Amino acid sequence: LIPIILHFIFSATTPYTPLPPVLLVGPPGAGKTALLTLFERGPLYNPDQSPSASEKPSVPTPVAKTHTSQLPSTVELAVSDGPTPSSYRTDLDAAGATAKKFLLIDTPGHPKLRAHALAHLSPSSQKPITTTTSSSSSSADGTKTKLKAIIFLVDAAALADTDSPALAATAEYLYDVLITLQKRFHKRSGSRAPASVPVLVAANKLDLFTALPAALVRSNLEAELTRIRKTRSKGLLDSGVGVDDVAGAREEEEEGEGWLGGYGEGRFSFKEMMEFDVEVEVIGGNVVGEGPGAEKWWKWIGERV
Ligand code: GDP
Repeated sequence: LIPIILHFIFSATTPYTPLPPVLLVGPPGAGKTALLTLFERGPLYNPDQSPSASEKPSVPTPVAKTHTSQLPSTVELAVSDGPTPSSYRTDLDAAGATAKKFLLIDTPGHPKLRAHALAHLSPSSQKPITTTTSSSSSSADGTKTKLKAIIFLVDAAALADTDSPALAATAEYLYDVLITLQKRFHKRSGSRAPASVPVLVAANKLDLFTALPAALVRSNLEAELTRIRKTRSKGLLDSGVGVDDVAGAREEEEEGEGWLGGYGEGRFSFKEMMEFDVEVEVIGGNVVGEGPGAEKWWKWIGERV
């Protein structure tokens, strides 16, 4: 009898397990809010297509609105728990499938508000992920939740315009994300395996004929990251910062921590990030209009939560 009573006591007091978070980052206007809304509510209503009973109801009007608040907005999502992730369109309750739940956290893309997104990635951060949804109690108990993945959304049409500063701005943000993950790898304590966080560079807006295909988004970003890492490492040593800072920077440099990716001087490649257990993949898609859609991104997430 005693084991049974103990079982009941313990199962009744089992602490709430926070849902695994996935962070949605990227420059303003990339389509983060639109993507979050798509995954949560399903595609826009299309009078030519009647959704099947197991699909999420289509929404009659675009609901995405860029949010400018300082706190990220979050939705709770579910993907089927099996070898092949279900479509984001599938209503898992109606389909009767077992589901893995996770949180998708939209972060403000404005440079002045990025610190909040990056704070979740920094090696020293013990800050649990805080969200604005009342339904998600991801951090209510103060438990640190393990970040599962990062979606870095880019506007592939904006990157095609060589006159616009979009490429530089996008790559700067991506640089910050990647170098933070790299530092996180270096700062892992003792023999504990680093919590590796894979990054999906989602090349959005491929419905627009002006948009760059994913392969070009990849090579343009790699080229720009090559330039940035050169400038940044030079800047660290040449700038007029205090002696201590320079010493710190040199130390970092010697350990290779201030230098993004591998230690070679040549062209940066996302593959170099594997040295720090950071997988980076570039996949094209679109949230609105005709194109490859968002299914591949959803599948990528489903395989990692
Ligand atoms: P955020 O600032 O990253 O949250 O971007 P938003 O979600 O507010 O989107 C910015 C603009 O891009 C909005 O006008 C969206 O309708 C538009 N947008 C988002 N995704 C796509 C897409 O796949 N194709 C096209 N053509 N426009 C998109």
